[in-house]
Amino acid sequence: MDFQFTPEQEMLRTAAREFAENEVAPRVAEMEKTGRFPMELIKPMGEAGFFGVTIPVEYGGLGLGYVARLILLEEIGRVSAALAMALQVFHLGVEPIVAFGSEEQKRRLLPPLARGERLATVAVTEAGGGSDPSSTKTVARFEQRSEGDGYVLDGRKVFITNAHLADVQVVLTKTKDEPKEFTAFIVERGMAGFKPGREEHKLGLLGCDTGEVIFEGCFVPVANRLGNEGDGLKTALKAISEAGRSGMAGVSLGLLRACVETAGAYAAKREVSGRPLNRYQGIQWKLADLVTDRDAATLLSYRACWLKDQGKRCDVEMATAKYFASEAAIRAAKLAAEVLGGYGYMEEFATQRYLRDRQLMIPSAGTSDVMRMVIARAATP
Ligand SMILES: Cc1cc2nc3c(=O)[nH]c(=O)nc-3n(C[C@H](O)[C@H](O)[C@H](O)COP(=O)(O)OP(=O)(O)OC[C@H]3O[C@@H](n4cnc5c(N)ncnc54)[C@H](O)[C@@H]3O)c2cc1C
Repeated sequence: MDFQFTPEQEMLRTAAREFAENEVAPRVAEMEKTGRFPMELIKPMGEAGFFGVTIPVEYGGLGLGYVARLILLEEIGRVSAALAMALQVFHLGVEPIVAFGSEEQKRRLLPPLARGERLATVAVTEAGGGSDPSSTKTVARFEQRSEGDGYVLDGRKVFITNAHLADVQVVLTKTKDEPKEFTAFIVERGMAGFKPGREEHKLGLLGCDTGEVIFEGCFVPVANRLGNEGDGLKTALKAISEAGRSGMAGVSLGLLRACVETAGAYAAKREVSGRPLNRYQGIQWKLADLVTDRDAATLLSYRACWLKDQGKRCDVEMATAKYFASEAAIRAAKLAAEVLGGYGYMEEFATQRYLRDRQLMIPSAGTSDVMRMVIARAATP
């Protein structure tokens, strides 16, 4: 067993940490104030290869895989969960194209995505419920046209990350009124009948765009169908269960690290009744719980991503990692805020942001209830 990162992975961690501290940290207050995504970071993130970390080298990416992506999300998430969330969903939008796209789709779409010249997302959730994608109502009707055959999409997706920024969206639709007849399409900005809808106002993750995307008679050429008709559920579920869940584990790891560091530094400095806080056993227990949760979440998450990089089955391990890391982030934000006492609730300390950001770790890419359903299946003969 080898717990060592490769020199390449260590270099990525250093680059991501420096970027997070030098470029992202100074923008967090503005993101919190305006709720706006920092567009000026897209170019340097593209140049650093952050968008293309999982895109194979032959399509312009770094081709470093999912352990490397986890390192990246952990480092960005340590400084801004909002930016890490936007990046994780970008990778999630790219994954179905890498895994199921035709050669033509990969050659056309992946290089500009890897450079950050175009942004991506995945649009599965609808107002009728996100836990069960088979309840999808967005329809795609095949249509023959003189300019070339295609599909006409009608429907509305909700809670979509990067909804207003993405140029490329992988969209799950129903192609026939039969239980398993779902098909995924790549919808591109500029296609008539496609537009972003309402922007959501959220409790946290400020600076990460979330909203609706609307399809009204949106014509998508056959060349933008992902896989065959009827493959959609398989395509979407594989991407969500692997890229989506490991991505949320990565954002959660970042939050866990931030909580340990913020609480640890404060407890070492703050004196109460003549002694630093970290000399009190009650505070030590909180710090110990924070570190233990961080490390357990780290091991589960890297195991799951290592399995994916080896091309091994990893659906249960991804669910375990996502379940544990996201619930640990919930616990960690509460503990970190408690260590800071009254200051933990004040604007000048990051713990109030962690308390608002943490709740999103649960629903995105599947709630804890859904994770437990997946995990329990592994225990059932
Ligand atoms: C900020 C944000 C960003 C998001 N980004 C995206 C995105 O980019 N793309 C995208 O497609 N979606 C996105 N989502 C949607 C997310 O995936 C869904 O919120 C999630 O799947 C849950 O769906 P729901 O919100 O409709 O809850 P519901 O499915 O209505 O669930 C409500 C409650 O019921 C529980 N529940 C549901 N089914 C069961 C069951 N069988 N047994 C026990 N309990 C159950 C759930 O755990 C939950 O507690 C995002 C959501 C948020 C909040």
